[in-house]
Amino acid sequence: MTDDQKKELVAKVEEQIGIADLFKMLEMSTVKIKGDNVYCVCPFHEGADNPNGFAWSNGFGFCFTQCNRKYDLFDIVMRMKGYDFPEAISFLADLVGVDIEFSRQAATVSDGLENRSFLSQLKRAKSKKKAVEWTPLPNTVFNDIEPVLHSMLRKEGFDNEVREYFNLGYARSGYLEGRITVPIDYIDGSIVTISGRSVLPKEEIEMSGIRRYQIWFDTDKGVTLYNIGRADPYIAIMKEVFVFEGFKSVWRLHQWGYPNAVATMGTSLTDEQRKLLLKLGVKIIVCGDRDKAGKEFNQKVEGAVSKFADFAVMDMYKLDVPEKSSLDDITKQQFEFLYQTTK
Ligand SMILES: [Zn+2]
Repeated sequence: MTDDQKKELVAKVEEQIGIADLFKMLEMSTVKIKGDNVYCVCPFHEGADNPNGFAWSNGFGFCFTQCNRKYDLFDIVMRMKGYDFPEAISFLADLVGVDIEFSRQAATVSDGLENRSFLSQLKRAKSKKKAVEWTPLPNTVFNDIEPVLHSMLRKEGFDNEVREYFNLGYARSGYLEGRITVPIDYIDGSIVTISGRSVLPKEEIEMSGIRRYQIWFDTDKGVTLYNIGRADPYIAIMKEVFVFEGFKSVWRLHQWGYPNAVATMGTSLTDEQRKLLLKLGVKIIVCGDRDKAGKEFNQKVEGAVSKFADFAVMDMYKLDVPEKSSLDDITKQQFEFLYQTTK
Protein backbone atom coordinates (compact mmCIF):
# COMPACT_ATOMS: atom_id res chain seq x y z
CA MET A 1 0.00 0.00 0.00
CA THR A 2 1.50 3.32 -1.01
CA ASP A 3 1.65 6.35 1.24
CA ASP A 4 -0.88 8.09 -0.98
CA GLN A 5 -3.32 5.20 -0.64
CA LYS A 6 -2.87 5.23 3.13
CA LYS A 7 -3.49 8.96 3.22
CA GLU A 8 -6.59 8.56 1.09
CA LEU A 9 -7.99 5.90 3.37
CA VAL A 10 -7.31 8.00 6.46
CA ALA A 11 -8.91 11.03 4.81
CA LYS A 12 -12.01 8.95 4.04
CA VAL A 13 -12.23 7.81 7.64
CA GLU A 14 -11.88 11.40 8.88
CA GLU A 15 -14.58 12.56 6.47
CA GLN A 16 -17.13 9.77 6.80
CA ILE A 17 -16.76 8.77 10.43
CA GLY A 18 -14.70 11.41 12.15
CA ILE A 19 -11.64 10.69 14.25
CA ALA A 20 -13.42 11.35 17.55
CA ASP A 21 -16.14 8.82 16.74
CA LEU A 22 -13.60 6.31 15.52
CA PHE A 23 -11.62 6.73 18.75
CA LYS A 24 -14.79 6.16 20.76
CA MET A 25 -15.57 3.11 18.64
CA LEU A 26 -12.08 1.83 19.49
CA GLU A 27 -12.84 2.46 23.18
CA MET A 28 -10.03 4.96 23.68
CA SER A 29 -10.28 6.94 26.94
CA THR A 30 -11.53 10.50 27.48
CA VAL A 31 -11.98 11.35 23.81
CA LYS A 32 -12.54 15.06 23.42
CA ILE A 33 -12.73 17.44 20.46
CA LYS A 34 -11.01 20.80 20.71
CA GLY A 35 -10.95 22.89 17.57
CA ASP A 36 -9.80 20.69 14.72
CA ASN A 37 -7.95 18.37 17.07
CA VAL A 38 -9.04 15.34 19.04
CA TYR A 39 -7.49 14.65 22.44
CA CYS A 40 -7.48 11.51 24.54
CA VAL A 41 -5.31 9.37 26.79
CA CYS A 42 -2.35 7.97 24.87
CA PRO A 43 -3.20 4.35 24.02
CA PHE A 44 0.43 3.36 23.59
CA HIS A 45 2.31 3.90 26.81
CA GLU A 46 1.13 2.44 30.05
CA GLY A 47 -0.75 4.54 32.57
CA ALA A 48 -3.60 6.98 32.01
CA ASP A 49 -1.45 9.82 33.22
CA ASN A 50 -2.82 12.62 31.08
CA PRO A 51 -6.38 12.77 29.70
CA ASN A 52 -5.18 15.13 26.96
CA GLY A 53 -1.84 13.46 26.47
CA PHE A 54 -2.53 12.25 22.95
CA ALA A 55 -3.60 14.57 20.16
CA TRP A 56 -4.88 13.81 16.69
CA SER A 57 -4.07 16.66 14.36
CA ASN A 58 -3.46 16.99 10.62
CA GLY A 59 -3.66 13.28 9.91
CA PHE A 60 -1.50 12.00 12.74
CA GLY A 61 -1.68 11.17 16.42
CA PHE A 62 1.02 12.47 18.68
CA CYS A 63 1.83 11.49 22.27
CA PHE A 64 3.57 14.30 24.09
CA THR A 65 3.19 12.73 27.53
CA GLN A 66 5.75 9.97 27.32
CA CYS A 67 6.20 8.45 23.87
CA ASN A 68 7.04 11.80 22.26
CA ARG A 69 6.33 10.46 18.80
CA LYS A 70 3.86 10.34 15.97
CA TYR A 71 1.47 7.47 15.28
CA ASP A 72 -0.69 6.96 12.24
CA LEU A 73 -4.23 5.68 12.25
CA PHE A 74 -3.10 2.14 11.46
CA ASP A 75 -0.83 2.09 14.52
CA ILE A 76 -3.80 3.15 16.63
CA VAL A 77 -6.16 0.50 15.21
CA MET A 78 -3.48 -2.18 15.61
CA ARG A 79 -2.94 -1.16 19.20
CA MET A 80 -6.59 -0.94 20.21
CA LYS A 81 -7.84 -4.00 18.30
CA GLY A 82 -4.75 -6.16 18.60
CA TYR A 83 -4.67 -6.42 14.79
CA ASP A 84 -1.69 -6.75 12.52
CA PHE A 85 -1.18 -4.19 9.78
CA PRO A 86 -3.24 -5.89 7.02
CA GLU A 87 -6.08 -6.45 9.47
CA ALA A 88 -5.99 -2.81 10.50
CA ILE A 89 -6.27 -1.76 6.87
CA SER A 90 -9.18 -4.13 6.28
CA PHE A 91 -10.93 -2.82 9.35
CA LEU A 92 -10.67 0.81 8.24
CA ALA A 93 -11.41 -0.01 4.60
CA ASP A 94 -14.57 -1.88 5.66
CA LEU A 95 -15.73 1.10 7.70
CA VAL A 96 -15.64 3.42 4.71
CA GLY A 97 -16.47 0.93 1.97
CA VAL A 98 -13.14 0.80 0.16
CA ASP A 99 -12.11 -2.30 -1.85
CA ILE A 100 -10.60 -4.57 0.80
CA GLU A 101 -9.15 -7.24 -1.44
CA PHE A 102 -6.78 -4.73 -2.91
CA SER A 103 -5.82 -3.35 0.50
CA ARG A 104 -5.17 -6.78 1.95
CA GLN A 105 -2.97 -7.81 -0.91
CA ALA A 106 -1.04 -4.56 -1.02
CA ALA A 107 -0.41 -4.39 2.68
CA THR A 108 3.13 -5.02 3.78
CA VAL A 109 4.07 -6.64 7.02
CA SER A 110 7.14 -4.51 7.64
CA ASP A 111 5.08 -1.45 8.58
CA GLY A 112 3.70 -3.41 11.47
CA LEU A 113 6.97 -4.94 12.55
CA GLU A 114 8.68 -1.64 13.03
CA ASN A 115 5.89 -0.52 15.27
CA ARG A 116 5.84 -3.71 17.28
CA SER A 117 9.50 -3.46 18.12
CA PHE A 118 8.95 0.12 19.20
CA LEU A 119 6.09 -0.95 21.44
CA SER A 120 8.14 -3.62 23.14
CA GLN A 121 10.89 -1.08 23.73
CA LEU A 122 8.31 1.15 25.30
CA LYS A 123 7.23 -1.56 27.68
CA ARG A 124 10.81 -2.03 28.78
CA ALA A 125 11.37 1.66 29.28
CA LYS A 126 11.05 2.74 32.87
CA SER A 127 8.05 4.89 33.55
CA LYS A 128 9.39 8.33 34.40
CA LYS A 129 6.23 10.26 34.95
CA LYS A 130 6.55 13.76 36.25
CA ALA A 131 3.45 15.90 36.28
CA VAL A 132 3.87 19.57 35.54
CA GLU A 133 3.19 21.20 38.87
CA TRP A 134 3.45 24.58 40.42
CA THR A 135 2.12 26.27 43.51
CA PRO A 136 -0.72 28.64 42.71
CA LEU A 137 0.08 32.27 43.40
CA PRO A 138 -1.46 33.69 46.55
CA ASN A 139 -4.00 36.38 45.67
CA THR A 140 -2.19 38.82 47.93
CA VAL A 141 0.53 39.05 45.27
CA PHE A 142 -1.77 41.26 43.28
CA ASN A 143 -2.23 43.67 46.20
CA ASP A 144 1.26 44.95 45.50
CA ILE A 145 0.53 45.54 41.84
CA GLU A 146 -1.09 48.57 40.29
CA PRO A 147 -2.73 48.21 36.89
CA VAL A 148 -0.89 51.09 35.26
CA LEU A 149 1.05 51.52 32.04
CA HIS A 150 4.60 52.42 33.00
CA SER A 151 6.18 55.25 31.00
CA MET A 152 8.95 52.90 29.92
CA LEU A 153 6.43 50.73 28.08
CA ARG A 154 4.80 53.81 26.58
CA LYS A 155 8.20 54.92 25.26
CA GLU A 156 8.64 51.51 23.69
CA GLY A 157 5.41 51.98 21.80
CA PHE A 158 3.04 49.90 23.93
CA ASP A 159 -0.30 51.42 24.84
CA ASN A 160 -3.04 50.82 27.36
CA GLU A 161 -4.74 48.26 25.13
CA VAL A 162 -1.61 46.11 25.36
CA ARG A 163 -1.41 46.69 29.10
CA GLU A 164 -4.97 45.50 29.57
CA TYR A 165 -4.78 42.56 27.20
CA PHE A 166 -1.66 41.18 28.88
CA ASN A 167 -2.66 42.41 32.36
CA LEU A 168 0.61 44.28 32.83
CA GLY A 169 1.15 46.41 35.90
CA TYR A 170 3.69 47.97 38.19
CA ALA A 171 4.65 46.70 41.65
CA ARG A 172 4.73 49.50 44.22
CA SER A 173 5.77 47.10 46.97
CA GLY A 174 6.45 43.45 47.68
CA TYR A 175 8.93 41.05 46.14
CA LEU A 176 8.79 42.69 42.72
CA GLU A 177 8.85 46.26 44.01
CA GLY A 178 9.86 48.83 41.43
CA ARG A 179 9.28 46.51 38.50
CA ILE A 180 6.85 46.28 35.60
CA THR A 181 4.87 43.11 36.26
CA VAL A 182 4.08 40.48 33.64
CA PRO A 183 1.78 37.61 34.68
CA ILE A 184 2.86 34.35 33.07
CA ASP A 185 0.00 32.12 32.02
CA TYR A 186 -0.46 28.40 31.48
CA ILE A 187 -2.40 26.84 28.62
CA ASP A 188 -5.55 26.61 30.76
CA GLY A 189 -5.36 30.36 31.49
CA SER A 190 -4.16 30.04 35.08
CA ILE A 191 -1.22 32.17 36.24
CA VAL A 192 1.98 30.25 36.88
CA THR A 193 4.07 33.13 38.13
CA ILE A 194 4.88 36.79 37.58
CA SER A 195 7.94 38.27 35.99
CA GLY A 196 9.10 41.70 37.08
CA ARG A 197 11.10 43.88 34.71
CA SER A 198 13.27 46.54 36.24
CA VAL A 199 12.57 50.07 35.06
CA LEU A 200 16.06 51.31 35.90
CA PRO A 201 18.26 52.46 33.03
CA LYS A 202 20.46 49.76 31.52
CA GLU A 203 23.69 51.22 32.95
CA GLU A 204 22.27 51.39 36.44
CA ILE A 205 21.12 47.77 36.26
CA GLU A 206 24.59 46.68 35.17
CA MET A 207 26.30 48.74 37.87
CA SER A 208 24.07 47.64 40.72
CA GLY A 209 24.15 43.98 39.66
CA ILE A 210 20.41 43.50 40.01
CA ARG A 211 18.57 41.35 37.53
CA ARG A 212 16.72 42.99 34.67
CA TYR A 213 13.99 40.39 34.94
CA GLN A 214 13.11 38.82 38.23
CA ILE A 215 10.61 36.01 38.65
CA TRP A 216 8.33 36.04 41.68
CA PHE A 217 10.28 34.13 44.35
CA ASP A 218 12.28 32.47 41.59
CA THR A 219 9.42 30.14 40.72
CA ASP A 220 9.87 27.98 37.64
CA LYS A 221 8.62 29.68 34.49
CA GLY A 222 9.92 26.84 32.35
CA VAL A 223 6.74 24.82 32.87
CA THR A 224 4.93 27.06 30.43
CA LEU A 225 5.26 29.29 27.39
CA TYR A 226 4.40 32.93 27.85
CA ASN A 227 0.96 33.81 26.39
CA ILE A 228 0.02 30.21 25.60
CA GLY A 229 -3.31 30.50 27.45
CA ARG A 230 -4.51 33.51 25.46
CA ALA A 231 -2.98 32.39 22.17
CA ASP A 232 -4.21 28.79 22.19
CA PRO A 233 -7.63 29.31 20.52
CA TYR A 234 -6.10 31.57 17.86
CA ILE A 235 -3.30 29.14 17.19
CA ALA A 236 -5.90 26.46 16.54
CA ILE A 237 -7.62 28.68 13.98
CA MET A 238 -4.50 30.13 12.36
CA LYS A 239 -2.67 26.78 12.35
CA GLU A 240 0.60 28.51 13.16
CA VAL A 241 2.42 29.58 16.27
CA PHE A 242 5.23 32.14 16.48
CA VAL A 243 7.89 31.39 19.08
CA PHE A 244 10.02 34.24 20.44
CA GLU A 245 12.54 34.64 23.22
CA GLY A 246 10.84 37.54 24.98
CA PHE A 247 7.54 39.06 26.09
CA LYS A 248 7.91 42.22 24.07
CA SER A 249 7.92 40.41 20.75
CA VAL A 250 4.64 38.75 21.73
CA TRP A 251 3.12 42.13 22.64
CA ARG A 252 4.33 43.70 19.40
CA LEU A 253 2.87 40.91 17.29
CA HIS A 254 -0.41 41.33 19.13
CA GLN A 255 -0.40 45.03 18.16
CA TRP A 256 0.07 44.01 14.56
CA GLY A 257 -2.93 41.71 14.67
CA TYR A 258 -1.24 38.38 15.32
CA PRO A 259 -2.53 36.88 18.57
CA ASN A 260 -0.83 33.52 17.92
CA ALA A 261 2.57 34.09 19.51
CA VAL A 262 4.31 32.67 22.56
CA ALA A 263 7.69 33.23 24.22
CA THR A 264 10.11 30.86 25.92
CA MET A 265 11.31 33.71 28.19
CA GLY A 266 14.97 33.14 27.46
CA THR A 267 17.07 31.30 24.92
CA SER A 268 16.45 27.80 26.18
CA LEU A 269 13.54 25.48 25.51
CA THR A 270 12.54 23.25 28.39
CA ASP A 271 11.09 19.80 27.88
CA GLU A 272 7.71 21.03 29.11
CA GLN A 273 7.82 23.90 26.64
CA ARG A 274 8.65 21.53 23.84
CA LYS A 275 5.69 19.33 24.74
CA LEU A 276 3.37 22.32 24.91
CA LEU A 277 4.50 23.39 21.46
CA LEU A 278 4.04 19.98 19.90
CA LYS A 279 0.68 19.54 21.58
CA LEU A 280 -0.58 22.50 19.55
CA GLY A 281 -0.26 20.37 16.42
CA VAL A 282 0.40 23.36 14.14
CA LYS A 283 3.25 24.87 12.16
CA ILE A 284 5.95 26.28 14.45
CA ILE A 285 7.70 29.48 13.32
CA VAL A 286 10.67 30.40 15.47
CA CYS A 287 12.22 33.86 15.53
CA GLY A 288 15.24 34.33 17.75
CA ASP A 289 16.90 37.71 18.18
CA ARG A 290 19.47 38.97 15.70
CA ASP A 291 22.52 37.77 17.60
CA LYS A 292 24.53 34.63 18.24
CA ALA A 293 22.26 33.47 21.07
CA GLY A 294 19.23 34.04 18.86
CA LYS A 295 20.72 31.95 16.09
CA GLU A 296 21.41 29.16 18.54
CA PHE A 297 17.89 29.50 19.88
CA ASN A 298 16.49 28.95 16.39
CA GLN A 299 18.62 25.83 15.99
CA LYS A 300 17.65 24.53 19.42
CA VAL A 301 13.95 24.79 18.68
CA GLU A 302 14.45 23.29 15.24
CA GLY A 303 16.26 20.31 16.71
CA ALA A 304 13.54 19.79 19.30
CA VAL A 305 10.41 20.04 17.17
CA SER A 306 11.09 19.85 13.43
CA LYS A 307 10.81 16.07 13.27
CA PHE A 308 7.31 16.21 14.68
CA ALA A 309 5.82 19.41 13.32
CA ASP A 310 5.89 21.76 10.36
CA PHE A 311 8.69 24.15 11.12
CA ALA A 312 10.24 27.36 9.81
CA VAL A 313 12.76 29.93 10.97
CA MET A 314 11.92 33.60 10.61
CA ASP A 315 15.45 34.87 10.18
CA MET A 316 16.17 38.32 11.61
CA TYR A 317 19.44 38.33 9.65
CA LYS A 318 17.40 38.91 6.49
CA LEU A 319 16.81 42.45 7.73
CA ASP A 320 19.23 45.34 7.65
CA VAL A 321 18.75 46.19 11.32
CA PRO A 322 21.26 46.57 14.18
CA GLU A 323 22.77 43.51 15.83
CA LYS A 324 20.76 42.32 18.85
CA SER A 325 17.45 43.52 17.38
CA SER A 326 14.46 41.43 18.30
CA LEU A 327 11.06 41.40 16.68
CA ASP A 328 9.79 44.26 18.85
CA ASP A 329 12.55 46.52 17.51
CA ILE A 330 11.48 46.32 13.86
CA THR A 331 8.60 47.86 11.92
CA LYS A 332 5.40 46.15 10.91
CA GLN A 333 6.52 46.36 7.26
CA GLN A 334 9.79 44.65 8.12
CA PHE A 335 7.90 41.95 9.99
CA GLU A 336 5.57 41.38 7.08
CA PHE A 337 8.50 41.08 4.70
CA LEU A 338 10.11 38.55 7.05
CA TYR A 339 6.91 36.58 7.49
CA GLN A 340 6.11 36.48 3.78
CA THR A 341 9.57 35.24 2.92
CA THR A 342 9.41 32.55 5.60
CA LYS A 343 7.83 29.38 4.28
ZN1 LIG B 1 2.24 7.74 24.81
